[in-house]
Amino acid sequence: MWSAATLRFRWELGSLRRKGEYVPFKIIASQCTGCSACEPLCPNVAISEKEGHFVIEATKCTECVGHYDEPQCVAACPIDNTCVVDRSLPRYQAPG
Ligand code: SF4
Ligand code: SF4
Repeated sequence: MWSAATLRFRWELGSLRRKGEYVPFKIIASQCTGCSACEPLCPNVAISEKEGHFVIEATKCTECVGHYDEPQCVAACPIDNTCVVDRSLPRYQAPG
């Protein structure tokens, strides 16, 4: 069962995609437990460990478009709202 926060996030992401907008993800460092569940799932090798927690290299993050229906880091993370959209960075432009 998804939490209300996760459902809200999924709705927001779906809304952005319907408008053709894509954004990179970031990991909230203070919430990351360093479990590493997300790291091997990223199709772009955008996730790495840094000083005990994990980070996303924004320029490599394509939101898993073309690989999976949903961002794998979000799907794998056991902590709600830890892998989140980073609105401060340029949007990934999906091909086509
Ligand atoms: S959304 Fe996908 S491509 Fe971006 S960091 Fe997460 S797993 Fe990697
Ligand atoms: S799955 Fe979540 S808690 Fe685990 S390393 Fe990745 S961001 Fe951190």
